[in-house]
Amino acid sequence: MTDRQALIAGNWKMNGLTAAALAEAKALAEKLAANPHKAQVAICPPAILLAPLAASLSGSGILLGGQDCHAKASGAHTGDIAAEQLKDAGAACVIVGHSERRADHGETDAIVRAKAEAAHRAGLIAIVCLGETLAQRDGGETLKVVASQLRGSLPDDANAANTVIAYEPVWAIGTGRTPTLEQVAEVHALIRRELRARFDDGAGFRILYGGSVKPDNAAQLMAVADVDGALVGGASLKAGDFWPIIAAKG
Ligand code: PEP
Repeated sequence: MTDRQALIAGNWKMNGLTAAALAEAKALAEKLAANPHKAQVAICPPAILLAPLAASLSGSGILLGGQDCHAKASGAHTGDIAAEQLKDAGAACVIVGHSERRADHGETDAIVRAKAEAAHRAGLIAIVCLGETLAQRDGGETLKVVASQLRGSLPDDANAANTVIAYEPVWAIGTGRTPTLEQVAEVHALIRRELRARFDDGAGFRILYGGSVKPDNAAQLMAVADVDGALVGGASLKAGDFWPIIAAKG
């Protein structure tokens, strides 16, 4: 059996102004310092908040992450941010292929794969998101869709240290709806099989569940086999909601 340290990552999306963000992060750091916890904790704020958060969270053990990166290291790409720049601002990881990026910006598996490669090149952990839409779930295509996204979105240089998978059913994100525990188990088992088949250390990759994780459902969801933590959106914005999710892992 492989020991995988749980990761609980907060995706703040396009939320937060400096003063309030620093206050929430400080409150979270204080909770973590005062209470033993098993999980590794990450916050992925808007990129402009990475540097101030890195300064204020120094020594807290909280990892910082970007929410996206460009595939190139530099160049004429107005508005984009390179993985190297995220790293320079204090990030240790970056989310790639979030369903909101796939939907809003037309990101394909090939684009997500290039972004994951960029994350690795910069020395960041890539948190690669996958998940089916409601129509795909209702059409019985979930396993086929997730397997195909996984194969297309993961670069060959992925390994258990530089890559984390986040299974996030699109219909569960921000909706208050979650799959049944059996549905979560079925998809995570598929992802684990695929990882084992392709990578020597496939048993060691962490696979997070994401989609309406809240303090009252976190323990159940994270107790499912092959669920190695959570990617949390709305409930990560307030330390008072995020801490109980972290505590749910022990
Ligand atoms: C997300 O955006 O990655 C997410 C899981 O959001 P929420 O927890 O709000 O459903």
